Amino acid sequence: MTLSRPAFDNSYARLPERFWSAQEPVPVAQPALIRINHGLASMLGISAEWLESPEGLEVLAGNRVPEGSEPIAQAYAGHQFGGWNPQLGDGRAVLLGEIVTPQGQRYDIQLKGAGRTVWSRGGDGRSPLGPVLREYIVSEAMAALGVPTTRSLAAVATGESVLRERPLPGAILTRVASSHIRVGTFEYFAGKQDYDAQRLLADHVIARHYPEAARSEQPYLALLEGVIARQARLIAQWQQLGFIHGVMNTDNMLVSGETIDYGPCAFLDEYSPATVFSSIDSFGRYAYGNQPAIAQWNLAWLARVLLPIVPGEEDPAVHRAQQAIEGFIEQYEAAWRELMHHKLGIAQPDASSDTLLEALLELMTRERADFTLTFSYLTALAGGDTILQADIESFWTPPPSLANWLPGWQARLQQAGQDASARHQLMRRANPLYIPRNHLVEEAIAAATDHHDFSLFHQLVERVTAPFDFDPAARHYLQPPRPEQVVKQTFCGT
Ligand code: AMP
Ligand code: MG
Repeated sequence: MTLSRPAFDNSYARLPERFWSAQEPVPVAQPALIRINHGLASMLGISAEWLESPEGLEVLAGNRVPEGSEPIAQAYAGHQFGGWNPQLGDGRAVLLGEIVTPQGQRYDIQLKGAGRTVWSRGGDGRSPLGPVLREYIVSEAMAALGVPTTRSLAAVATGESVLRERPLPGAILTRVASSHIRVGTFEYFAGKQDYDAQRLLADHVIARHYPEAARSEQPYLALLEGVIARQARLIAQWQQLGFIHGVMNTDNMLVSGETIDYGPCAFLDEYSPATVFSSIDSFGRYAYGNQPAIAQWNLAWLARVLLPIVPGEEDPAVHRAQQAIEGFIEQYEAAWRELMHHKLGIAQPDASSDTLLEALLELMTRERADFTLTFSYLTALAGGDTILQADIESFWTPPPSLANWLPGWQARLQQAGQDASARHQLMRRANPLYIPRNHLVEEAIAAATDHHDFSLFHQLVERVTAPFDFDPAARHYLQPPRPEQVVKQTFCGT
C-alpha cells in the first residue's frame, strides 16, 4: 500500500529571496506523537496512516525534510502593542511548503517550534508543550464553531526540554493555514520602502485569496476592501462567541481573514466587555470589548502601507482607502448585529429587537452572567428542550433579572411568526454548548505537562470539536469554573 504523502506545490518560495530565508527545521532528540487530526488530514488529502508512520513522525518533528518541501522562514514586521518593530519574521516556525487539496484549495504546512531561524533574535526557536496543546484545542474548536482559522494537523513531543520560568517539555505543532501572510508582511516591505516587493506581495495575495480584486480597475484598493470585509466578519464572530484573542498585533493578523496565533487567548466565562486575559497586556489594549477598534487600527496600517503602490492620482486613492477603513466599523456592526440576533433566534433585526439585545447584555454585565451558558439556556427555553434546561439548572442559576427580560423576548419570538423549529436551529448553531473554557484548557495542559497524561487533552479536543451536540454525560464541559478554578491570566506562547 502506498500512503499519500503531502504533494508540495510551493508558491511563496518562488517569490524573491528577500521574502524569506531558507531554513531547515532543527532536528529534535526523541519525537513522539501526541495527536494527529484525522479529519483535517483527509480534507488535505494526506494519509493519517502516513502521518502516524515512523517517516511521518520524523517529518512532523522536523527530523526529516519531506520530498518536495522547500523549508523557509518567512520575513515580516509588525506593530506589537502599538509599537513598531521593523523586523520580526518566523523566529520559531518553518514553512515546509504548500499543498493543494483534492478540492483545489492551497494550504501552507508549517512546523511551529521547529528551532532557531535567522529571525529568532534572543529566542530558542522552540515551544513548550502547553502552548502547543492550547493552540491545538482552541484552533480546532474555532474551526468546529465555523470561525475562519488556522488549523492544527498534528502535535508531537520533542523529547527535549525548553527552558522558560522552569524547564518544560518541548513540542511542535503542525499548523495549516490558507497562507501565513500577515498585515505585518506588508509592513515589512513598507518599512524598507521596497515597493517592488510590495507589488509582488499584493499580486501574490490577490491571486491566492482575492482573485476578484484582479478584475477591479484598482486591484490594490480592492484587495484592501476585501481584507476589511473578511476581518469585519471575523471579529464579529469572535465577539459573538466571547473569544478574546489576547495579542492582536499586526503580525498576528492574516490577510486571508483567518484567526492566527493562539497565544494568550481565552473565551469569556462571565460576560464583561472589559475582560483581559493576557499576562502581557497590562493596559487592556486587547480587551474583549476593544477587539473591533484594534482590528480597525491594524487595518489602517494595511491601508497606509498599500497606498504607495496604488497607481494613479493620490487623492482619490487616499479618500477611498479612508472610506474603507471608516466603513470597517459599519460592516463589523452589521455582522455583529446579525450574529447576536441569531443567538436570540431572531432572523430579522429591527429597532425593538436591538433594544431587547441591549437589555440582555446590560443585565448580563451587571449580574456577571456566564456568556455561553446564558445563551445555551435561552436556546433550551426556545426549543422546549427540557432535558437540557434541567441539566443546566442542576448546577447554574440564571441571572436574577433574566426572569423580567424573558417575557419581552418570548413575545417577540411569537410575533416574528417564524417557524419554531427553524428558529431553534438558528439558535443552536449560534450558541455552542461546549467551548474550550480556560480552566479546562489549563487542567488539560497541567496533566500533560506535569504527569505526562494526555487523556484530558484528547477528551477536550473531542468535546469542543462537537460544540453544538448536547451530551448529558458531558456536564463537566458545560459548567463554568468554580471560584477557585477561574483563570485570570493566560501566558503568551513564547
Ligand atoms: P508571537 O508572540 O508568537 O506572535 O511571536 C512574536 C515574534 O516572536 C515572532 O517573530 C516569533 O517568531 C518570535 N518568537 C516567539 N517565540 C519565540 C521563540 N521561542 N524563539 C524565537 N522566536 C520567537
Ligand atoms: Mg505571531
